[in-house]
Amino acid sequence: MPSLRCPCGTNFRTETDDELVEQVQEHLAEAHPGRTYSRDDILMLAAMS
Ligand SMILES: [Zn+2]
Repeated sequence: MPSLRCPCGTNFRTETDDELVEQVQEHLAEAHPGRTYSRDDILMLAAMS
Protein backbone atom coordinates (compact mmCIF):
# COMPACT_ATOMS: atom_id res chain seq x y z
CA MET A 1 0.00 0.00 0.00
CA PRO A 2 1.69 3.22 -1.09
CA SER A 3 2.22 5.96 1.47
CA LEU A 4 4.01 9.28 1.51
CA ARG A 5 4.72 11.92 4.12
CA CYS A 6 4.83 15.52 2.94
CA PRO A 7 7.55 17.68 4.54
CA CYS A 8 4.73 19.77 6.08
CA GLY A 9 3.61 16.72 8.08
CA THR A 10 0.63 15.59 6.05
CA ASN A 11 0.48 11.85 5.55
CA PHE A 12 -0.99 10.13 2.53
CA ARG A 13 -1.90 6.48 2.37
CA THR A 14 -3.98 5.10 -0.45
CA GLU A 15 -5.00 1.84 -2.02
CA THR A 16 -3.29 2.44 -5.33
CA ASP A 17 -0.43 4.39 -6.87
CA ASP A 18 -2.92 6.31 -9.00
CA GLU A 19 -4.81 7.52 -5.93
CA LEU A 20 -1.60 8.50 -4.18
CA VAL A 21 -0.46 10.58 -7.15
CA GLU A 22 -3.85 12.27 -7.36
CA GLN A 23 -4.01 13.07 -3.63
CA VAL A 24 -0.45 14.39 -3.45
CA GLN A 25 -0.93 16.59 -6.51
CA GLU A 26 -4.15 18.01 -5.04
CA HIS A 27 -2.39 18.67 -1.72
CA LEU A 28 0.50 20.43 -3.45
CA ALA A 29 -1.89 22.64 -5.41
CA GLU A 30 -3.74 23.65 -2.22
CA ALA A 31 -0.98 23.79 0.38
CA HIS A 32 2.18 24.40 -1.61
CA PRO A 33 1.33 26.47 -4.67
CA GLY A 34 4.15 26.53 -7.17
CA ARG A 35 5.50 23.14 -6.17
CA THR A 36 4.65 20.37 -8.53
CA TYR A 37 5.83 16.81 -8.70
CA SER A 38 5.45 14.46 -11.61
CA ARG A 39 3.90 11.04 -11.20
CA ASP A 40 7.38 9.50 -11.30
CA ASP A 41 8.65 11.88 -8.61
CA ILE A 42 5.75 11.05 -6.30
CA LEU A 43 6.10 7.31 -6.75
CA MET A 44 9.84 7.52 -6.16
CA LEU A 45 9.27 9.45 -2.92
CA ALA A 46 6.65 6.93 -1.86
CA ALA A 47 9.05 4.07 -2.51
CA MET A 48 11.63 5.67 -0.21
CA SER A 49 9.27 6.28 2.68
ZN1 LIG B 1 2.42 19.45 2.41
